[in-house]
Amino acid sequence: MASPRDRRGGDTVAMRVLVVEDESKMARLLERGLREEGCIVDVVSTGVDAQWLATSTTLDVIVLDLALPDIDGIEVCRRLRAADVWTPVLMLTARDAIGDRIAGLDAGADDYLVKPFAFGELLARLRALARRDLGPRPTVVSVGDVTLDPASRRVWRGDTELALTAKEFALLSLFLRHPGEVLTRDRLLEQVWDFAFEQRSNVLDVHIRGLREKVDRPFGRDSVQTLRGVGYRWKQDA
Ligand code: CA
Repeated sequence: MASPRDRRGGDTVAMRVLVVEDESKMARLLERGLREEGCIVDVVSTGVDAQWLATSTTLDVIVLDLALPDIDGIEVCRRLRAADVWTPVLMLTARDAIGDRIAGLDAGADDYLVKPFAFGELLARLRALARRDLGPRPTVVSVGDVTLDPASRRVWRGDTELALTAKEFALLSLFLRHPGEVLTRDRLLEQVWDFAFEQRSNVLDVHIRGLREKVDRPFGRDSVQTLRGVGYRWKQDA
């Protein structure tokens, strides 16, 4: 069946699945089962790795265990959605508690499955999620002549489409949602990176520079403004 994702890469594209599970037995079981079904499978065992991979790779669906050794599945989901990553998420939970399910769905998971489950059931849910038009997604954001479409992850300035990295995209998305507002370094780091890890480095400045090279310089503009020692601001056109 032709979904928007299929069109991207040709006629038949294998479903690309990220499995986030720290119990190695379960992880191997899922990996093997999904590969046998023709899926392309990545496996990670921590929430931070999941966050990194899901923001830097195009995936069709994510199988996300709730209980992880670092940040839990609910927090992973929340961070992905905050970073405008809308890959469908199937949350796995061993706890048959209604509270966890609701929290997971509130955080932006699309479906959940309670352990133990039959592999066939998991597969059916994943196929449905990868195929589904996932209902209300954030709408296109336009500020001045810049347009960002979170669902397709595409950006334009005027009629020119820009090729941004995942981090540049996440930064621009934040700027466009808060035009004219000062966004502090801490806030940008917290929303776009894993705060504790990246705070020490100049990684923010590097990515801001990269963003400017694409969104400003070719157009002779200076929309991304530096407020020295404070943060950055998207300048609104008068
Ligand atoms: Ca677990």
